Formats: sequence, C-alpha cells, structure tokens
Amino acid sequence: MIDANLKDKVCVLTGGGGVLGSSLSKGMAEQGAKIAILDLHLEKAESAAKRIAEETGSKVIGVSANVLDRESIEKAAKVISAELGPADILVNAAGGNSPDATTQAEFIEESVLDNLDSTFLGLKLEGFEKVFDLNFMGTLLPTMVFTREMISRKKGSVVNISSMNSFRPLTKIPAYSAAKAAVNNFTQWLAVHYAKVGVRVNAIAPGFFLTKQNSFLLVDQESGELTPRGEKIISSTPTGAFGKPDDLVGALLYLSSDMAGFVTGIVVPVDGGFSAYSGV
Ligand code: NAD
Repeated sequence: MIDANLKDKVCVLTGGGGVLGSSLSKGMAEQGAKIAILDLHLEKAESAAKRIAEETGSKVIGVSANVLDRESIEKAAKVISAELGPADILVNAAGGNSPDATTQAEFIEESVLDNLDSTFLGLKLEGFEKVFDLNFMGTLLPTMVFTREMISRKKGSVVNISSMNSFRPLTKIPAYSAAKAAVNNFTQWLAVHYAKVGVRVNAIAPGFFLTKQNSFLLVDQESGELTPRGEKIISSTPTGAFGKPDDLVGALLYLSSDMAGFVTGIVVPVDGGFSAYSGV
C-alpha cells in the first residue's frame, strides 16, 4: 500500500514561522510528524508551534536560529535532537526578497536615462548580498548541519523552497531570481552527491502567493487594489488567482515521504500553470 507514512518522523522547517513555512509545518503535523519550527524570531517560531500543536495534536516545538549563522543552526540542531530526535526531513523555507534588492524601474529606457539609480546600476551591493545570501547560503548551511545525521542513518529527505523566478526571472528582483536559480542547481547537485547514501534532495517552486515579502510589489499599500504588476501576474496565471499557502502541502508530503522514494533532484512547480503558459 502506498502511504506517506510520516508519523513520528522528525521534520525541521526553516522559516517555519512565516506564511508558507507555517502552513507547510501544519500540513506535516497533520500527518503525525514531529515538527521543529526554526525561525530567526523565537516568538514567531514559538507562537506558530503552539498554534499548530493545538490544532493538530502533534508534537511541535519552536526554536530560534539564523540560517546564515552555522553556530546558531548547530545549537538549534542540538535542541531539536534532544527534544524530538535527529531530523528525518529538512524543509528549507527561510527566504524572501527585500526592497533593498529591488530596482524601481523595470527596463532601462529613454525615460530613466537621467535617473540610472532607479535601475540595476543603482542597486546597493549590501542589499543584493543580503537577499542572495538569505535564499542561497540560507539553504546551504542548514542542509550542511541537518543532513549529517541523515547520512549516518542512510535515510533522509531535503526539500528546498525555490520559486518561479528560478526558471524565468521576474523584472526588478535580480538577486532573488539568481539565488533561487542557484537553489535549483544546488538541489540537482546535492541530489547526485547524496544519491548513494539514501538522502534525497528535491525542491518545490511555488508560483505566486500573496505574502509580506511581495505584497509591497503586488498590492497598492493604500488602496488595497492590485498593482499593475500584481495584475500582470494574475493574467499570466491560467487558473486566475494567487496560490493559497495550503496549495503547497501536497507536493511537500509527496517529496518528503517514501512515496517519492525513487525521486531525487527534481523541482516541482506549484504555480497554477504559470510556467506552462505562453500568454497566448
Ligand atoms: P515569510 O516572510 O512569510 O517567511 C519567511 C520566514 O523566514 C519568516 O518567518 C522569517 O522570520 C524567516 N527568516 C528570515 N530570515 C531568516 C534567517 N536569517 N534565519 C531564519 N529564519 C529567517 O515568506 P514566505 O512567503 O512564507 O516564504 C517562504 C519561502 O517561500 C521563501 O523561501 C520564499 O522565497 C519562497 N517563495 C514564496 C513565494 C510567495 O509568493 N510568497 C513564492 C515563491 C517562493
């Protein structure tokens, strides 16, 4: 019988206090997995953990760690190991974009030639690095820490949260797009590297979900109406809507469980058809 069979598996989710991460945590907890919600902000991690434990009856703990600081991840891993056991599943969901790594102009054209600071040329390196590192190094470092035990037990699953930007970059956000493309490449690379020790590595590429990290680009903060960019995204998504966080759960259950036992090195789009649509 094919069954996700995630009961009592230990699942660590970085960025688990965020919108998508907490929905993924709840989806895993509903299957009986033991969950460690790891987030930069302890209050966020703990309040999500408390709510999900109450709603699902599963064991859920909140732990603080910075995915860019190896020592803090190692400290969190010790706490998780002592309270839940070694990780069976790692979901790298910490990530996001920032206004500091976003150009104001979409194109370099006549009208912006006297204001090149509004283009790629005006981006500050620190902003670029902050977003690139959060999405790429912030995936790599927790993977280094949490897969060590998986390798020694010859079993484990890593699921990275990538983005549609990894296939076709959206305008304005070069650091985020480059980092997510790097996440896809790393997913394939590591899947091969770990293939002989039973550790699978896959990714999910969500389409567009309205969350804090992107709402400043997609919704007019005063009127609440979609911006022209938000409207463009909806018209490029054949199903005609933003995704709901729960829409990602099925892909995670599949990739993280033995249902996908022969699946490693893939990136699954969950995007309402965005990646399939030419616009015509
Ligand atoms: P979110 O901002 O709601 O959640 C991100 C979480 O990561 C937050 O709780 C934040 O505190 C945590 N975090 C930030 N920096 C951290 C650090 N250094 N160490 C540990 N935790 C840190 O964002 P979200 O929309 O839930 O995004 C989750 C993932 O999904 C991200 O990787 C994002 O790039 C990706 N994604 C989102 C969308 C979307 O439409 N929202 C689309 C595609 C991909």
